[in-house]
Amino acid sequence: MSAQELHQMGVAELATAIADKKTSSVEAAQHLLARAKEHQNLGAYLAFNEDLTQAQAKAADARVAAGERGPLLGVPLAHKDIFVTQGFPTTAGSKMLAGYQSPFDATVVSQLAAAGAVTLGKLNCDEFAMGSGNDNSAYAPVHNPWDTARVPGGSSGGSAAAVAARLVPAATGTDTGGSIRQPASFTGITGIKPTYGRCSRYGMVAFASSLDQAGPMARSAADCATLLTAMAGPDIDRDSTSLDHPAEDYTRLLSQPREGANAAQPLKGLRIGLPKEFFGEGCAPDVIATVRAALSEYEKLGASLVDISLPRTELSIPVYYIIAPAEASSNLSRFDGVKFGHRAAKFDDLADMYKKSRSEGFGPEVQRRIMIGTYVLSHGYYDAYYLKAQQIRRLIAQDFQQAFTQCDVIAGPVAPTVAWKIGEKSDDPVANYLADIYTLSTSLAGLPGMSVPAGFGAANMPVGLQLVGNYFKEGELLQTAHAFQQATDWHTRTPSGF
Ligand code: GLN
Repeated sequence: MSAQELHQMGVAELATAIADKKTSSVEAAQHLLARAKEHQNLGAYLAFNEDLTQAQAKAADARVAAGERGPLLGVPLAHKDIFVTQGFPTTAGSKMLAGYQSPFDATVVSQLAAAGAVTLGKLNCDEFAMGSGNDNSAYAPVHNPWDTARVPGGSSGGSAAAVAARLVPAATGTDTGGSIRQPASFTGITGIKPTYGRCSRYGMVAFASSLDQAGPMARSAADCATLLTAMAGPDIDRDSTSLDHPAEDYTRLLSQPREGANAAQPLKGLRIGLPKEFFGEGCAPDVIATVRAALSEYEKLGASLVDISLPRTELSIPVYYIIAPAEASSNLSRFDGVKFGHRAAKFDDLADMYKKSRSEGFGPEVQRRIMIGTYVLSHGYYDAYYLKAQQIRRLIAQDFQQAFTQCDVIAGPVAPTVAWKIGEKSDDPVANYLADIYTLSTSLAGLPGMSVPAGFGAANMPVGLQLVGNYFKEGELLQTAHAFQQATDWHTRTPSGF
């Protein structure tokens, strides 16, 4: 098998090639490691541990030699550097955690490892997952393989760039307000954020605990289904927000025929809701045109389009940017140079040590959010900001339930524009926050959402179609995306030079 063939394969093809002994896990891992190094200037990877990768690949090959087959057995993956991993450093993209080695694996990491996946390395991200362009990493910005002068999206930008550039067939990501869906959209790959609580948060460095959720990023919905089947499931002893809902086989659900549907119209009967707030003024015309073209394809597949409204969409920005920083300010208080994190080399007294350690360890966006968070939680402002935001959060969730009486799945753009130029929004935090308009409400409601490659917009950059489902409807979302990918080839496009 040629090297070129090895990195062009998705998860399913690679697992089959390994099981059929056309290649080995060791061969695939070695090739992908070399390729990752060759493309280090993308900034996608933060750390490798070649000996460990090699040992894991050998162990997978031994299982194959013993006759085992599995959809992830021997397949190299990489993890966003927000998941703690034994044997690899975990930094969360921050100087605060430089050199940190976790004594244990995050649940999501150990579940993928149990399925036989091999860890290639750790992927760059915005510091503590705060950002929309992956230009907030304390180490290096990540470049979009479709145009290296542009951002790959954030905060899971390293995961998105690595998958898009064919450095790895799939990766993990996390989404607090859009960080799986938006980078997937900006780099032309597929990503799904499950229902809040569906994947364990144990071992995920916390940003905003009531919003953070892990999910897979891959080329296709089918590959996302394979990863999510291994990742999702209850972990109630270790994560108090994990949902006690049995694991599901998303791969099986993928091609399960819908009632009343047929081969020509596999989505017959599916009602897709289009929120008018997602197609309004704020969205760039090239994005709307690409999304509309994808929706016409859905009509050909038998789905019907219905107009709906999510009236509080606009409020999701202020609500999210109160709740997420409030939770972050509390979560990040543990990094004080004593309990966890970087400690300043020189200081006068205890208070000065905290101050210097935190000023040196945290970057500007993280410090901004800690300040906003402590402000909105402080006595006298709590009722006006935090409590009010929580009340509106409930109303946003109710709007979705109202919408789901009229449709099965909601669709729209993921972001109002294609990926912007690196540096374009770096000095303007509000411009970054506004770009999250279409992803935040789903996160606030705790609903599953995904991004599916839908075509190309301005500057020939990828555009994703967002699909949002009701609670626990990951299977239906993946099926809806898979049907589209059976009929189109947007998800197979590779950026030139990769
Ligand atoms: N862009 C959003 C933020 O900066 C979302 C980040 C995320 O989902 N982790 O908070």
